[in-house]
Amino acid sequence: MASLFAKPITELTGVGSRRAELFRKLGAPTVGALLRLYPRAYEDWSNPCTVAEAPADTPCAVRAVVESVGAPVFAHSGIMLTHVQTADDTGAPLELTFFNNQYIQNLLQSGTCYILYGKVTYSHGKYQMASPVFAKEGQCSGLRPIYPQTKGLSSRIIAASVREALHLLPDILRDPIPQNLRQEYSLCELRYALENIHFPQDMESMEVARRRLAFEELLVLQLGLLSMKSRAREKSSFLVSHSYLEEFWKLLPFAPTHAQKRAAEEAVQDMQSGYPMNRLIQGDVGSGKTAVAAACCHTAIQNRMQAVLMAPTDILAHQHFLSLTEMLKPAGISVGLLTGSLKAKEKAAVKAGAADGSIQLLVGTHALLTPDVQFQNLGLVITDEQHRFGVNQRAALSEKSEGTHVLVMSATPIPRTLALMIYGDLDISVIDELPPGRQEIQTFCIDSSKQKRALRFVQKHVHEGRQAYIICPAIDGGSDKASVAEYTRYLQGVLPDCRIGSLHGRMKAKEKAGIMAAFSAGEIDILVSTTVVEVGVDVPNAVDMLIENAEQYGLSQLHQLRGRVGRGTCQSYCILITDAQNDDARARMEVMCETSDGFKIAEHDLKLRGPGDFFGQRQHGLPELKIADMNSDLAVLKDAQMVAKEMLRQDTTLEAPEHRGLRAEVRQLFRNSSEI
Ligand code: ADP
Ligand code: MG
Repeated sequence: MASLFAKPITELTGVGSRRAELFRKLGAPTVGALLRLYPRAYEDWSNPCTVAEAPADTPCAVRAVVESVGAPVFAHSGIMLTHVQTADDTGAPLELTFFNNQYIQNLLQSGTCYILYGKVTYSHGKYQMASPVFAKEGQCSGLRPIYPQTKGLSSRIIAASVREALHLLPDILRDPIPQNLRQEYSLCELRYALENIHFPQDMESMEVARRRLAFEELLVLQLGLLSMKSRAREKSSFLVSHSYLEEFWKLLPFAPTHAQKRAAEEAVQDMQSGYPMNRLIQGDVGSGKTAVAAACCHTAIQNRMQAVLMAPTDILAHQHFLSLTEMLKPAGISVGLLTGSLKAKEKAAVKAGAADGSIQLLVGTHALLTPDVQFQNLGLVITDEQHRFGVNQRAALSEKSEGTHVLVMSATPIPRTLALMIYGDLDISVIDELPPGRQEIQTFCIDSSKQKRALRFVQKHVHEGRQAYIICPAIDGGSDKASVAEYTRYLQGVLPDCRIGSLHGRMKAKEKAGIMAAFSAGEIDILVSTTVVEVGVDVPNAVDMLIENAEQYGLSQLHQLRGRVGRGTCQSYCILITDAQNDDARARMEVMCETSDGFKIAEHDLKLRGPGDFFGQRQHGLPELKIADMNSDLAVLKDAQMVAKEMLRQDTTLEAPEHRGLRAEVRQLFRNSSEI
């Protein structure tokens, strides 16, 4: 199997350089990778239905006898159409239409029974199927794989190549999962799994194959994550000998909450342990994670290290830069900012400052990851809103300095059990307390007929000196920029006495920062925005969050957006406007009105969407899973984690001959990360 990964896909018949490029796009540049390109679904040809039974909008198999094949006719557009009349088992008529296919007359014979696969539609008083795939009855297999497709490469072509690749499997196939494990967890062999995931006899054998491949995938994932963690068990040369937390808290205009203190203490203890810290701080929106990050930077810097803080957006990096400067300048700490939008000259100056150590804390975006950003003595790396970054990016930043301490912060509250499983590589602190004096945000859900009233409500707050955010609806197919501009114009008409600013993702970073600064300074009353304000932004005087077409957003995102208000001492409001009636949207709105506890919302979110969707949306920064499904495979994940722990306990580097196959796969999965 391993050697098949070295065999370029062009060794298969019919795969030239053009087609190889398409395979590469699908993630299959080699024969081995092609075998791991699993079908995303199967066409079930084994249970043909009648026309009347055919589901709407879903392709299915229908058994029908061809009655007549019409002569080709030409449509106005010049397309050649061939109509074929058939009848199903009950005698119900079904008309087939083929486009530009001059062979149909030879391929389909009157009086013969076929299995037709396609969507049955009903129009002009008759049942029809456009361009069905067909085979003579008795000459087709039960389940046909449907592969992820790309233009120019159909499922059929892929299937043919996979068939050939399966023939190339060596007679003696090394199975990466050792035999004792296969036995213990009733997993089939690799060959069986590969054959039956691509061309299963029936649903049962497909499921046997799938379960084994999911186990393998999750095992490899866990091995990777856990060995990242154990790698971190090598000694760190960045030792905090004295905690300066007490000094730091005195620099703040407020007293830290117990939860903030505890999280900071846990982090500082990590840095005092002699081993690199590898910690996740989870805290609901508004729980004050920035101050904890600042506390850690302060202690690290007082212990003669440099620190960096990476944020996912320019707006957020800029905001952190301002607030950290304010907190840390009194302690004589120099803070720098590096984002992609700086001028070359400015960038060069900041980089020079990081390299010679004169900048002690560097705040920035992805721009920090470029190799020419170097440090004299980087001891602490912090990533804010870590779910916006991948494991690999997280790793890339910590690799700027060997043995450096790593702190990641996230407001996506993942229920602890799940977090422990998917962030197997991190220790976790939870900030489960909001700063005092916060009033519960009142949340309402209204339909669009009350929109004007809601705008008056916002206007009233503006007259009282408060501010508001309005998240405007995305226009179907239109640009963010257009929808924000249009909404701003509309709003200015309704509320002519308010100062309205607008923000969207397409703006230049400088423009965005300018608007945010004006909003922060109270020069803008109402900020019309897309979801770019979603993460991290902190303007305590803003009291209203009005979300148009709220049904467009998932629970976590709504909660994040709502978290932009309620950050000061004034009563804040979140107004969700939606006309959606479907159960799913109603359920989300209900949860939002019921609770503002991020962890409860996350639990609901998982219940409504399932962890599969959580994984699907890549909110976690883990490598993409190809086959494991987090909805149905949670039990498999548990097993895999247990096995991974035990395996690494016995064989830390996976050097034993029976573990080498797995080690190769771990490397492959985390290939962009040199941590492994
Ligand atoms: P998040 O956890 O969402 O990143 P922030 O760090 O942005 O939250 O903090 C939210 C707001 O709460 C900020 O305005 C911050 O100054 C304020 N804050 C943080 N900690 C406290 C505290 N202990 N007491 C009062 N206000 C606080
Ligand atoms: Mg934050």
